[in-house]
Amino acid sequence: MLPELPSFDDVARASERLAGNAHRTPVLTSTTADAIAGASLFFKCENFQRMGAFKFRGGYNAIARLTPAQRAAGVVTFSSGNHAQAIALASRLQGVKATIIMPLDAPAAKRAATEGYGGQIVTYDRYAEDREQIALRIQSETGATLIPPYDHEDVIAGQGTAAKELFEDVGELDYLFVCLGGGGLLSGSALSAFALSPRCQVYGVEPEAGNDGQQSLRKGEIVRIQAPKTLADGAATTHLGHLTFPLIQKYVRDIVTVTDEQLVSTMKFFAERMKMVVEPTGCLAAAAVLQSVVPVRGARVGVIISGGNVDLAAYGKLLAG
Ligand SMILES: *Cc1c(COP(=O)(O)O)cnc(C)c1O
Repeated sequence: MLPELPSFDDVARASERLAGNAHRTPVLTSTTADAIAGASLFFKCENFQRMGAFKFRGGYNAIARLTPAQRAAGVVTFSSGNHAQAIALASRLQGVKATIIMPLDAPAAKRAATEGYGGQIVTYDRYAEDREQIALRIQSETGATLIPPYDHEDVIAGQGTAAKELFEDVGELDYLFVCLGGGGLLSGSALSAFALSPRCQVYGVEPEAGNDGQQSLRKGEIVRIQAPKTLADGAATTHLGHLTFPLIQKYVRDIVTVTDEQLVSTMKFFAERMKMVVEPTGCLAAAAVLQSVVPVRGARVGVIISGGNVDLAAYGKLLAG
Protein backbone atom coordinates (compact mmCIF):
# COMPACT_ATOMS: atom_id res chain seq x y z
CA MET A 1 0.00 0.00 0.00
CA LEU A 2 1.29 3.45 -0.84
CA PRO A 3 1.76 5.78 2.11
CA GLU A 4 -0.32 8.96 2.29
CA LEU A 5 2.05 11.74 1.24
CA PRO A 6 1.92 15.28 2.60
CA SER A 7 0.83 18.03 0.19
CA PHE A 8 1.36 21.77 -0.11
CA ASP A 9 -1.87 22.27 1.89
CA ASP A 10 -0.09 20.60 4.80
CA VAL A 11 2.83 23.01 4.36
CA ALA A 12 0.43 25.97 4.33
CA ARG A 13 -1.23 24.78 7.55
CA ALA A 14 2.20 24.22 9.15
CA SER A 15 3.02 27.80 8.25
CA GLU A 16 0.00 29.03 10.24
CA ARG A 17 1.09 26.99 13.27
CA LEU A 18 4.62 28.37 13.02
CA ALA A 19 3.59 32.02 12.65
CA GLY A 20 4.85 33.90 15.70
CA ASN A 21 6.67 30.80 16.98
CA ALA A 22 9.42 30.23 14.41
CA HIS A 23 11.47 33.10 12.99
CA ARG A 24 10.65 34.20 9.50
CA THR A 25 14.34 34.05 8.56
CA PRO A 26 15.93 36.62 6.25
CA VAL A 27 16.72 36.13 2.57
CA LEU A 28 20.18 37.56 1.93
CA THR A 29 21.92 38.44 -1.31
CA SER A 30 25.59 39.06 -2.11
CA THR A 31 27.01 40.88 -5.12
CA THR A 32 30.17 38.79 -4.80
CA ALA A 33 28.23 35.52 -4.78
CA ASP A 34 26.23 36.69 -7.81
CA ALA A 35 29.45 37.52 -9.64
CA ILE A 36 30.92 34.08 -8.89
CA ALA A 37 27.81 32.25 -10.11
CA GLY A 38 26.91 34.70 -12.89
CA ALA A 39 23.36 34.56 -11.55
CA SER A 40 21.03 36.18 -9.01
CA LEU A 41 21.24 34.16 -5.82
CA PHE A 42 18.79 34.34 -2.93
CA PHE A 43 20.02 32.72 0.28
CA LYS A 44 17.29 31.62 2.70
CA CYS A 45 19.14 31.76 6.01
CA GLU A 46 17.92 29.00 8.32
CA ASN A 47 21.17 29.33 10.23
CA PHE A 48 19.26 32.23 11.86
CA GLN A 49 16.29 30.01 12.76
CA ARG A 50 15.54 29.30 16.44
CA MET A 51 18.03 26.72 17.79
CA GLY A 52 20.13 27.39 14.71
CA ALA A 53 18.57 25.23 12.00
CA PHE A 54 15.40 24.62 9.97
CA LYS A 55 14.65 21.54 12.10
CA PHE A 56 12.76 23.73 14.55
CA ARG A 57 10.03 24.08 11.90
CA GLY A 58 9.28 20.38 11.50
CA GLY A 59 9.67 19.63 15.20
CA TYR A 60 7.36 22.45 16.24
CA ASN A 61 4.73 21.49 13.67
CA ALA A 62 4.77 17.81 14.66
CA ILE A 63 4.31 18.66 18.34
CA ALA A 64 1.57 21.19 17.59
CA ARG A 65 -0.38 18.40 15.85
CA LEU A 66 -0.45 16.08 18.88
CA THR A 67 -3.79 15.37 20.58
CA PRO A 68 -4.18 16.47 24.23
CA ALA A 69 -3.65 12.86 25.38
CA GLN A 70 -0.47 12.56 23.31
CA ARG A 71 0.81 15.90 24.61
CA ALA A 72 0.30 14.71 28.18
CA ALA A 73 2.33 11.54 27.52
CA GLY A 74 5.26 13.45 25.99
CA VAL A 75 7.49 12.80 22.99
CA VAL A 76 10.63 10.79 22.40
CA THR A 77 13.27 10.87 19.70
CA PHE A 78 16.81 9.74 19.00
CA SER A 79 19.37 12.15 17.63
CA SER A 80 22.58 13.77 18.71
CA GLY A 81 22.23 16.64 16.28
CA ASN A 82 19.91 19.46 15.38
CA HIS A 83 16.74 17.35 15.56
CA ALA A 84 17.38 16.72 19.26
CA GLN A 85 17.65 20.44 19.95
CA ALA A 86 14.61 21.16 17.80
CA ILE A 87 12.43 18.65 19.63
CA ALA A 88 13.70 19.81 23.03
CA LEU A 89 12.93 23.47 22.33
CA ALA A 90 9.67 22.93 20.45
CA SER A 91 8.44 20.68 23.28
CA ARG A 92 9.34 23.13 26.00
CA LEU A 93 7.56 25.97 24.18
CA GLN A 94 4.41 23.85 23.94
CA GLY A 95 4.56 22.46 27.48
CA VAL A 96 5.33 18.89 26.41
CA LYS A 97 7.93 16.63 28.01
CA ALA A 98 10.68 15.49 25.61
CA THR A 99 12.99 12.52 26.06
CA ILE A 100 16.01 12.49 23.76
CA ILE A 101 18.02 9.32 23.27
CA MET A 102 21.66 10.18 22.61
CA PRO A 103 24.84 8.14 22.32
CA LEU A 104 27.11 8.27 25.38
CA ASP A 105 29.87 9.75 23.22
CA ALA A 106 27.74 12.58 21.73
CA PRO A 107 29.66 15.89 21.75
CA ALA A 108 29.34 17.62 25.12
CA ALA A 109 28.23 20.87 23.47
CA LYS A 110 25.30 19.18 21.73
CA ARG A 111 24.25 17.46 24.90
CA ALA A 112 24.44 20.70 26.86
CA ALA A 113 22.41 22.56 24.22
CA THR A 114 19.69 19.91 24.24
CA GLU A 115 19.55 19.95 28.04
CA GLY A 116 19.55 23.73 27.97
CA TYR A 117 16.35 23.65 25.92
CA GLY A 118 14.78 21.41 28.54
CA GLY A 119 15.15 17.98 26.91
CA GLN A 120 15.57 14.98 29.19
CA ILE A 121 18.49 12.92 27.92
CA VAL A 122 18.76 9.14 28.02
CA THR A 123 22.17 7.90 26.94
CA TYR A 124 23.08 4.59 25.35
CA ASP A 125 26.17 2.76 24.20
CA ARG A 126 26.29 2.98 20.40
CA TYR A 127 28.38 -0.17 20.17
CA ALA A 128 26.30 -2.38 22.44
CA GLU A 129 22.74 -1.05 22.44
CA ASP A 130 20.08 -0.35 19.87
CA ARG A 131 18.53 3.12 20.09
CA GLU A 132 15.29 2.00 18.47
CA GLN A 133 14.85 -0.66 21.15
CA ILE A 134 15.37 2.00 23.81
CA ALA A 135 12.84 4.26 22.11
CA LEU A 136 10.32 1.41 21.99
CA ARG A 137 10.86 0.70 25.68
CA ILE A 138 10.29 4.36 26.60
CA GLN A 139 7.22 4.46 24.38
CA SER A 140 5.72 1.40 26.01
CA GLU A 141 6.50 2.64 29.53
CA THR A 142 5.25 6.20 29.09
CA GLY A 143 3.00 6.22 26.02
CA ALA A 144 5.26 8.89 24.50
CA THR A 145 4.99 9.64 20.77
CA LEU A 146 8.08 9.03 18.66
CA ILE A 147 8.99 11.96 16.39
CA PRO A 148 11.55 10.85 13.81
CA PRO A 149 13.88 13.40 12.16
CA TYR A 150 12.58 13.29 8.59
CA ASP A 151 10.20 10.48 7.61
CA HIS A 152 7.05 11.95 9.13
CA GLU A 153 4.35 13.92 7.37
CA ASP A 154 4.17 16.78 9.90
CA VAL A 155 7.96 17.07 9.97
CA ILE A 156 8.11 17.26 6.16
CA ALA A 157 5.29 19.83 6.06
CA GLY A 158 7.04 21.97 8.67
CA GLN A 159 10.36 21.86 6.82
CA GLY A 160 8.58 22.98 3.64
CA THR A 161 7.68 26.32 5.21
CA ALA A 162 11.20 27.74 4.74
CA ALA A 163 10.98 27.47 0.94
CA LYS A 164 7.38 28.73 1.06
CA GLU A 165 8.62 31.92 2.73
CA LEU A 166 11.44 32.23 0.20
CA PHE A 167 9.03 32.16 -2.77
CA GLU A 168 6.68 34.57 -1.01
CA ASP A 169 9.56 36.98 -0.42
CA VAL A 170 11.34 36.89 -3.80
CA GLY A 171 8.78 35.52 -6.27
CA GLU A 172 9.29 32.75 -8.77
CA LEU A 173 12.72 31.22 -9.27
CA ASP A 174 14.42 29.22 -12.03
CA TYR A 175 16.25 26.93 -9.61
CA LEU A 176 16.10 25.95 -5.96
CA PHE A 177 19.02 24.16 -4.29
CA VAL A 178 18.42 22.26 -1.06
CA CYS A 179 20.70 19.94 0.93
CA LEU A 180 19.53 16.50 1.93
CA GLY A 181 20.19 13.86 4.51
CA GLY A 182 16.98 11.89 4.95
CA GLY A 183 15.19 14.30 2.62
CA GLY A 184 12.69 16.01 4.94
CA LEU A 185 13.83 19.51 4.00
CA LEU A 186 14.16 18.65 0.31
CA SER A 187 10.77 16.99 -0.05
CA GLY A 188 8.97 19.77 1.87
CA SER A 189 10.78 22.44 -0.17
CA ALA A 190 9.83 20.68 -3.39
CA LEU A 191 6.14 20.78 -2.39
CA SER A 192 6.42 24.55 -1.93
CA ALA A 193 8.29 25.01 -5.21
CA PHE A 194 5.75 22.99 -7.19
CA ALA A 195 2.88 25.04 -5.73
CA LEU A 196 4.40 28.52 -5.81
CA SER A 197 6.87 28.43 -8.70
CA PRO A 198 5.92 25.46 -10.86
CA ARG A 199 8.66 25.96 -13.45
CA CYS A 200 11.39 26.04 -10.80
CA GLN A 201 13.88 23.18 -11.06
CA VAL A 202 14.60 21.76 -7.62
CA TYR A 203 18.01 20.15 -7.01
CA GLY A 204 19.05 18.16 -3.97
CA VAL A 205 22.67 18.36 -2.83
CA GLU A 206 24.42 15.61 -0.88
CA PRO A 207 27.94 15.00 0.37
CA GLU A 208 29.90 12.96 -2.16
CA ALA A 209 30.78 10.37 0.49
CA GLY A 210 27.10 9.80 1.29
CA ASN A 211 25.29 9.89 -2.04
CA ASP A 212 22.58 7.38 -1.18
CA GLY A 213 19.89 9.83 -2.33
CA GLN A 214 21.49 10.21 -5.75
CA GLN A 215 21.87 6.44 -6.04
CA SER A 216 18.23 5.96 -4.99
CA LEU A 217 16.95 8.42 -7.57
CA ARG A 218 18.97 6.71 -10.33
CA LYS A 219 17.92 3.24 -9.30
CA GLY A 220 14.26 4.02 -8.61
CA GLU A 221 14.35 2.48 -5.13
CA ILE A 222 15.70 3.43 -1.71
CA VAL A 223 19.40 2.52 -1.58
CA ARG A 224 20.99 2.02 1.85
CA ILE A 225 24.65 2.81 2.47
CA GLN A 226 27.10 2.54 5.38
CA ALA A 227 27.21 5.63 7.63
CA PRO A 228 29.38 7.97 5.51
CA LYS A 229 32.43 9.89 6.75
CA THR A 230 31.88 13.53 5.85
CA LEU A 231 32.13 16.98 7.42
CA ALA A 232 28.42 17.33 6.63
CA ASP A 233 27.30 15.45 9.75
CA GLY A 234 23.69 16.60 9.36
CA ALA A 235 23.54 14.80 6.02
CA ALA A 236 25.36 11.64 7.11
CA THR A 237 22.17 9.59 6.90
CA THR A 238 22.20 6.11 5.40
CA HIS A 239 18.90 6.13 3.49
CA LEU A 240 15.90 8.20 2.41
CA GLY A 241 12.47 7.68 3.97
CA HIS A 242 9.32 6.01 2.71
CA LEU A 243 7.60 9.39 2.52
CA THR A 244 10.54 11.54 1.44
CA PHE A 245 11.67 9.26 -1.40
CA PRO A 246 8.44 9.26 -3.46
CA LEU A 247 8.13 13.04 -3.03
CA ILE A 248 11.70 13.49 -4.23
CA GLN A 249 11.08 11.16 -7.18
CA LYS A 250 8.04 13.17 -8.13
CA TYR A 251 9.23 16.75 -7.68
CA VAL A 252 13.04 16.87 -7.68
CA ARG A 253 14.93 17.33 -10.95
CA ASP A 254 18.17 15.71 -9.79
CA ILE A 255 20.50 15.14 -6.85
CA VAL A 256 24.12 16.24 -7.17
CA THR A 257 27.08 15.89 -4.81
CA VAL A 258 29.84 18.10 -3.43
CA THR A 259 33.10 17.21 -1.72
CA ASP A 260 34.14 18.13 1.82
CA GLU A 261 36.75 20.44 0.30
CA GLN A 262 34.03 22.32 -1.57
CA LEU A 263 32.07 22.59 1.69
CA VAL A 264 35.04 24.15 3.46
CA SER A 265 35.56 26.72 0.65
CA THR A 266 31.89 27.64 0.88
CA MET A 267 32.02 27.87 4.67
CA LYS A 268 34.96 30.28 4.35
CA PHE A 269 33.07 32.29 1.74
CA PHE A 270 30.12 32.73 4.10
CA ALA A 271 32.37 33.71 7.00
CA GLU A 272 34.57 36.10 5.07
CA ARG A 273 32.22 37.68 2.56
CA MET A 274 28.77 37.41 4.12
CA LYS A 275 29.83 37.48 7.81
CA MET A 276 27.85 34.35 8.61
CA VAL A 277 28.57 31.21 10.59
CA VAL A 278 27.24 28.28 8.57
CA GLU A 279 27.80 24.66 9.58
CA PRO A 280 29.34 22.34 6.95
CA THR A 281 26.00 20.63 6.21
CA GLY A 282 24.44 24.06 5.81
CA CYS A 283 26.92 24.80 3.00
CA LEU A 284 25.88 21.89 0.74
CA ALA A 285 23.32 23.71 -1.43
CA ALA A 286 25.44 26.85 -1.79
CA ALA A 287 28.53 24.79 -2.67
CA ALA A 288 26.73 23.25 -5.66
CA VAL A 289 26.04 26.75 -7.02
CA LEU A 290 29.23 28.61 -6.07
CA GLN A 291 31.44 25.74 -7.29
CA SER A 292 29.46 25.39 -10.56
CA VAL A 293 28.40 21.79 -9.95
CA VAL A 294 25.18 22.79 -11.74
CA PRO A 295 25.50 25.69 -14.23
CA VAL A 296 22.98 28.44 -13.43
CA ARG A 297 24.30 31.38 -15.48
CA GLY A 298 21.76 34.18 -15.90
CA ALA A 299 19.15 32.50 -13.70
CA ARG A 300 17.29 33.42 -10.52
CA VAL A 301 18.41 30.87 -7.97
CA GLY A 302 17.20 30.06 -4.46
CA VAL A 303 19.66 28.47 -2.05
CA ILE A 304 18.67 27.17 1.37
CA ILE A 305 21.29 27.51 4.09
CA SER A 306 20.07 24.83 6.46
CA GLY A 307 21.88 25.55 9.73
CA GLY A 308 24.64 27.30 11.63
CA ASN A 309 25.45 25.10 14.62
CA VAL A 310 29.18 24.52 14.80
CA ASP A 311 31.67 23.27 17.32
CA LEU A 312 33.73 26.46 17.60
CA ALA A 313 37.10 24.73 17.93
CA ALA A 314 36.49 22.53 14.87
CA TYR A 315 35.07 25.48 12.94
CA GLY A 316 38.08 27.64 13.76
CA LYS A 317 40.45 24.93 12.56
CA LEU A 318 38.59 24.52 9.26
CA LEU A 319 38.55 28.29 8.65
CA ALA A 320 42.25 28.63 9.41
CA GLY A 321 43.26 25.57 7.36
C1 LIG B 1 19.03 17.59 9.49
C2 LIG B 1 19.82 18.55 8.71
C3 LIG B 1 19.94 18.43 7.32
C4 LIG B 1 19.32 17.30 6.54
O1 LIG B 1 17.92 17.36 6.60
P1 LIG B 1 16.99 16.16 6.11
O2 LIG B 1 15.61 16.63 6.32
O3 LIG B 1 17.34 14.95 6.93
O4 LIG B 1 17.31 15.93 4.67
C5 LIG B 1 20.65 19.41 6.65
N1 LIG B 1 21.23 20.44 7.29
C6 LIG B 1 21.15 20.59 8.62
C7 LIG B 1 21.81 21.76 9.27
C8 LIG B 1 20.43 19.66 9.39
O5 LIG B 1 20.34 19.81 10.72
